[in-house]
Amino acid sequence: MSGTVISKAVANLIRQEIQAIKAYHVPDPGDMVKLDAMENPYHMPEELMAEWMGLVKRAEINRYPDPSASKLSAALKSYMGVPENISSGSGCENSIILGNGSDELIQILAMAVAKPGRKILAPEPGFVMYNMIATFTGLEYLGVPLKDDFSLDMPAMLEAVETHQPALIFLAYPNNPTGNLFADDDIEKILNVAEGLVVIDEAYHPFACTSFMPRLGEFDNLLVMRTVSKMGLAGLRLGLLAGPDKWISEFDKIRLPYNINILTQVTAEFALRHAEVFEQQAATIREQREWLFNELSSLSQFDVFPSRANFILLRVLQGDATDIFEGLKTRGILIKNSHSAGGVLTQCLRITVGKPEENKLLVKAIKECL
Ligand code: PMP
Repeated sequence: MSGTVISKAVANLIRQEIQAIKAYHVPDPGDMVKLDAMENPYHMPEELMAEWMGLVKRAEINRYPDPSASKLSAALKSYMGVPENISSGSGCENSIILGNGSDELIQILAMAVAKPGRKILAPEPGFVMYNMIATFTGLEYLGVPLKDDFSLDMPAMLEAVETHQPALIFLAYPNNPTGNLFADDDIEKILNVAEGLVVIDEAYHPFACTSFMPRLGEFDNLLVMRTVSKMGLAGLRLGLLAGPDKWISEFDKIRLPYNINILTQVTAEFALRHAEVFEQQAATIREQREWLFNELSSLSQFDVFPSRANFILLRVLQGDATDIFEGLKTRGILIKNSHSAGGVLTQCLRITVGKPEENKLLVKAIKECL
């Protein structure tokens, strides 16, 4: 087939809205200091390596994994504080579903509700996958701009919810890329007026130290999503969605069998048995976040926004965000340039909190770029 024939076939066959978007781009970090993707900078500690390797060796990779990952599910439920008896009180309900990262859970949620005219709503700026997955699944995406201080614009949110009654509302708590927590009473108001499902996305829970998890069951339409990515296990791809059985059981029908592979199951179970190690790392990251916040705030060229996550958003007031981003790259440090998103993110940079030595390097390099 010639090139033109192929592109004609693509044009005919692939949905217009898919042709119109760009693939999710992940920059190649090479050997740069990686402060762009909100990862935990610490690898599995050396003292746990031998035991972990032993488990990996014994994992039966010739067999399909446990399709319901039952041991891991039980460990996650207990570790993440998923309430017992969210809805019926029978004690044998299905209160969580696991995904290949929370990305897959967003996709499962969207697939479960998708039909023409249905909508997903989220505040903007927000996590880009809500919008992308709406497109993948043929849902309409409604982004409601945040106020200048990044709090929810409640009149606009409530109006959008009441007018459109979206099937799904995503509220990242704390929000990515702004780093702030939305006010609990604003979230409650949204839960009360929404006829659709409200997903509180607690990806950054290890750094936020607050949660809607204990409130599951209080609202019929409340779901809480977590991930192990930010606690130090991003490479495993494991997320969790918790909520009333009547919803979770429906989502479970769409989940592909064996979506949580055996190495993830074995490793995550092991990591949860040593959760204190990861909690200590998160505590160090929270301390480093405060250090970095103070260092960056002392520079008059920036407006630095307080964060309850493991990253800090700042706005460049004097100078140019892209010049600083490029300057850091030439000095071997990769952060996220949020400037191209426009709107409130104009001249903004997002910096993931790294190890103390990485944060020191960053501050030194940033000063050189000013
Ligand atoms: N939710 C939010 C708010 C995020 O920022 C991210 C990733 N950066 C995710 C979900 C996706 O997490 P996972 O690695 O579990 O797919």
